[in-house]
Amino acid sequence: MNNFTLAPVQTDQPSHLMPVFGRQQISFVRGRGSYLYTEDGTEYFDALTGIAVCGLGHSHPAITAAITEQAATLIHTSNIFEVPWQTAAAQKLAEAAGMEEVFFSNSGAESNEGAIKIARKFGHLQGVANPKIIVADHSFHGRTLATLSATGNKKVQEGFAPLVEGFIRVPFGDIEAIEEAAINHPDIVAILVEPIQGEGGVNTAPQGFSYLEEIRQICNQHNWLMMLDEVQTGNGRTGKYFAYQHTNIIPDVLTTAKGLGNGFPIGAVMTQGRGVGVLTAGNHGSTYSGTPLGSRVVYTVIETIQKENLVANAAEKGAYIVQQLTEKLNGLNVTVRGFGLMLGIELPKPCAELVDIARDEYQLIMNVTAGSVIRLLPALNITQEQADQLIERIEKLVKAYLA
Ligand SMILES: *Cc1c(COP(=O)(O)O)cnc(C)c1O
Repeated sequence: MNNFTLAPVQTDQPSHLMPVFGRQQISFVRGRGSYLYTEDGTEYFDALTGIAVCGLGHSHPAITAAITEQAATLIHTSNIFEVPWQTAAAQKLAEAAGMEEVFFSNSGAESNEGAIKIARKFGHLQGVANPKIIVADHSFHGRTLATLSATGNKKVQEGFAPLVEGFIRVPFGDIEAIEEAAINHPDIVAILVEPIQGEGGVNTAPQGFSYLEEIRQICNQHNWLMMLDEVQTGNGRTGKYFAYQHTNIIPDVLTTAKGLGNGFPIGAVMTQGRGVGVLTAGNHGSTYSGTPLGSRVVYTVIETIQKENLVANAAEKGAYIVQQLTEKLNGLNVTVRGFGLMLGIELPKPCAELVDIARDEYQLIMNVTAGSVIRLLPALNITQEQADQLIERIEKLVKAYLA
């Protein structure tokens, strides 16, 4: 067992945290691989991984070593200097992503902010005074003002008007709606979508990934930027390094975060094709962009995913889990879907309470999105035995709930 230091919480004092999160009344003091532990040593199977963040599981030795060695050497300098770990991380990420340029941000929302800025500047370079970006219903792009405005969820936007303008919303998967928007709005310059909607309920478009191919074609036709939000789907999660690699097309702008740092807060916005060269000196920045510490973590995460063959493992274990759960839950009016280890199990009725039941009765950490979809985002290095353990707990949980 690891040593750990308990936080010096003063239990006789009120919490001073801004109450923006709906928190479960449990805390974990350490983690190892696919498991989390409470102070009394109770073990929980983590099928959430901090919402698709800890793809390598908890306390992966390579990540721990990268963080501790770099923290003991040099954490931060500034982008007014060369940062060799940043250059190395960008090379490694660009290669895995099929992209040319990389800007490191500190979160998913910030990566999407970068993409939105690229789209607007791209428009202005072509003389479009009020550039517009097409976005989808049920999308999630973050909590900053521009990204919550792009998000297709009224609850995220409520109370924050005036929203950032310049977004045109279409139903996810609806190509005709995009073509109609193109006719009605000559000032569109880009489309921003998630290949699979995560927060929206693990949704693939009705036509599958050919939706992305159709978008690519429209973008080519109109000289728009094709921008994909792979904050959640990236970094091996769906059984390809990036989800767009399930297709033969390539986006012009690609954003990611979550699994990129395995828990270290870092994200990236990347470009290729007509996205290259849009942002130039003085256009963008961040004090913390690509610190030696964060960059070394990114480099090590990618190196580890590749060395341990985790993209293939995600594809294989994910397909196995889908097949097994489909079989075991047959006849219960349940749909099991997803790619790699980004899985959704849609139940025939609302099931938000399953989060508490799974945790308290089955020691299983998972979440429910879109009201009735169990979302599983286990670690990419899940073993066969662990996959079976997860399947067994989900089977019991769902059968008991629908009985
Ligand atoms: C989580 C998420 C974001 C926001 O990322 P943060 O790091 O929370 O800012 C954006 N887009 C998608 C698709 C996400 O899943």
